[in-house]
Amino acid sequence: MSSGYAFFRKVPAIFDKSMRRVISCFDVIFVLPYPFSDHPSFPEGILRKALELEGFRVGVIETPFWQKKESFEVLGKPKRFFAIISGPVDSVVLNYTSARKRRKEDLYQLNGKAYFHGYPPSIKYKIRPDRTVIVFTNRIKELFHDVPIVIGGLEAALRCFAHYDFQQDKIRRSILLDSRADILVTGMGEKQLVRIARILESGVSINDIILPGTARINNALPEKNGCVELPSFEAVLQDRTKLLEAHLMLEKALLEGKDIVQRHADRYVVQYPVENYNASDLDHIYDQCYTRMHLKGDSYSPALRMNLFSITSHRGCAGGCSFCSIGIHHGKKVISRSMGSIVKEIHSQTRHPQWKGYIADIGGATADMYGNDCKVEGCLKPSCLYPERCRIFSPGKRYMELLRECRKTRGVKKIFLGSGVRYDMLLNDPDLLEEILLYHSGRFLRIAPEHTEETVLNLMRKPSFNVLESFVRLFQSINQKLKRRIELAPYIIVGHPGEKQADVIEMKKKLTSLGLKATRVQIFTPTPGNLSTAMYYARCDSSLKPIPVEKEIVELIKRKKLLASPG
Ligand code: SF4
Repeated sequence: MSSGYAFFRKVPAIFDKSMRRVISCFDVIFVLPYPFSDHPSFPEGILRKALELEGFRVGVIETPFWQKKESFEVLGKPKRFFAIISGPVDSVVLNYTSARKRRKEDLYQLNGKAYFHGYPPSIKYKIRPDRTVIVFTNRIKELFHDVPIVIGGLEAALRCFAHYDFQQDKIRRSILLDSRADILVTGMGEKQLVRIARILESGVSINDIILPGTARINNALPEKNGCVELPSFEAVLQDRTKLLEAHLMLEKALLEGKDIVQRHADRYVVQYPVENYNASDLDHIYDQCYTRMHLKGDSYSPALRMNLFSITSHRGCAGGCSFCSIGIHHGKKVISRSMGSIVKEIHSQTRHPQWKGYIADIGGATADMYGNDCKVEGCLKPSCLYPERCRIFSPGKRYMELLRECRKTRGVKKIFLGSGVRYDMLLNDPDLLEEILLYHSGRFLRIAPEHTEETVLNLMRKPSFNVLESFVRLFQSINQKLKRRIELAPYIIVGHPGEKQADVIEMKKKLTSLGLKATRVQIFTPTPGNLSTAMYYARCDSSLKPIPVEKEIVELIKRKKLLASPG
């Protein structure tokens, strides 16, 4: 039995006869739509550890049968708050394909099974309901109207303001209003969660908490000077371009460290500047012991199995690609752990019963950004790499040192790079590329050019096709020198805003001319909280110039098939 359940047994609940309700001895109760993973690559693992280190007792309700509200009261009423952990992926993204078809599997459930055992495969019985945060929060509010609810994770953070919901094909208002949650935590959020628990413990009301890295609803416009007011929800509903305008303002305001406000009728969603994390914060939390298991049984979800021996070396992404929300959620600035802390984590992995000597990944959003923690304050560029690489940003060297150090660690047979590398950065770093091909690649090296046509690449904030050509030449020369037969596996998106059918025909020719097979092609899916989604909805680029946007799924599938076809 895992330590999570041992802890559960030590902290029983008490039945309060006068209130006819179980009063939990837990300070905080986590509720999540998938099995809890006690692993530092999963937000719930990090967040529970952070609270426990500060002396708070954490209970866990995992995969509640959400059709019945009683499923949410099995641990009683927490002393401080409920925390709805939506996890690292939005529920709509996990539940639907780019063709709006319902997915039958969920990587985060045990053995990938998406439906409650013994029930028909209908949306009513999906373990992870659509827009999980709203469903769970509303259920808990029905039972415990007087207990604060904190929401967090990607789904909550990227739906903080008015956003486009692809599955419903409409603009939705802030998740704070639909869920009626008291406070929303942005980013990974371990510092904020501990602070909220401390403040509530001191007797302050949840309504009076104002903290960096959180958002909440206000009844009036904050008086503070210098806050940025986004176009209101009503304005976004009326004018498609306002979503784009709001996203660009949000991106800038996050970099400026300002409060961000959006009016919804007579109320205001207020997001405070991001919480600052540094290398020691990361070392502290990742240095703790994690069982790397679920709380019960010894089976694994596919997501945990894939990440069982993965290591997060840093947070943040400096790339600023338009279709990605990592920069908005975790920040543009890279924050790296120390090498010592990473090596220590490898040592702890070697004691896991499943350890065979293979590490699936050491990285973050982009592995070779490790160690590029920029100290410049007040930089307002949305990307350190686009349109050209900032001279201060020189990735590669520290990551190479890290890999060398980790390779020397006793018990390690091979380290793979599951999180992928930026090929445009590797172009300036042939030594790192050589070491990756020698020691860290399987049959394929994954790269993500995403497209080949300049108009689309510019809209994506990705490097020009010339850069890909130069990289392929460098890769081939090193591959030959090493006598390896590694192939490049390019990741391609079709149907990104701005793409025309002719672009895909041209892309096919260009990839073929470089000897690249497009085996990993994805149809663009508009997800909340990124620039590409705002362009998709507005049918404009960021200067509000109209661009083509293909929405017909039949045509998009045709484009995908064309790219994937041989020859
Ligand atoms: S100064 Fe350069 S490296 Fe630093 S955040 Fe700005 S663009 Fe990135």
